[in-house]
Amino acid sequence: MLNKRVEDALNAQINAELWSAYLYLSMASYCHAEGKSGIARWFEVQFKEEQDHAQIFYNYIVQRGGRVELKAIDAVPTSWTSLLNAFEETLKHEEKVTSLINNLMATALEEKDFATQSMLKWFIDEQVEEEDNARTIIDSLRAIGDNGYGLYMLDKELAARTYTQASPLANSGF
Ligand code: MG
Repeated sequence: MLNKRVEDALNAQINAELWSAYLYLSMASYCHAEGKSGIARWFEVQFKEEQDHAQIFYNYIVQRGGRVELKAIDAVPTSWTSLLNAFEETLKHEEKVTSLINNLMATALEEKDFATQSMLKWFIDEQVEEEDNARTIIDSLRAIGDNGYGLYMLDKELAARTYTQASPLANSGF
């Protein structure tokens, strides 16, 4: 049986992951409005990955005999001052998600919930990658500055991002 404190924290994380998905879809639409469909594509893949993250927590709660409780998803920002600003906010957001995952792990440790600790290991590793991805693109955008050709090339590069399911744990069965 799933510990109530752990169950509540996992439910809160479903909401946080869905909020992340919503944020990145909003960023994708901002990029489209800025004429950068390749960068928009990068955020659209990010949107799908965040839905996978929510699905993993959902599946896990169900599998442990817990109760999923879906709460309202808060509104997200709809515009940013620049593409660089959008990626700076992405990094800031992922750093926050990392702290949420760390807090979840701390709760699972306190409650001696070993199965949840094992499941969270994937997210601990994933967050290292998420922060690194955002940082790499921030570095590129800072190097490019206002160079139109540089932005054009970055847009082409990020257009190549393809979606692959985040983890087999995201298999929903529906
Ligand atoms: Mg996530």
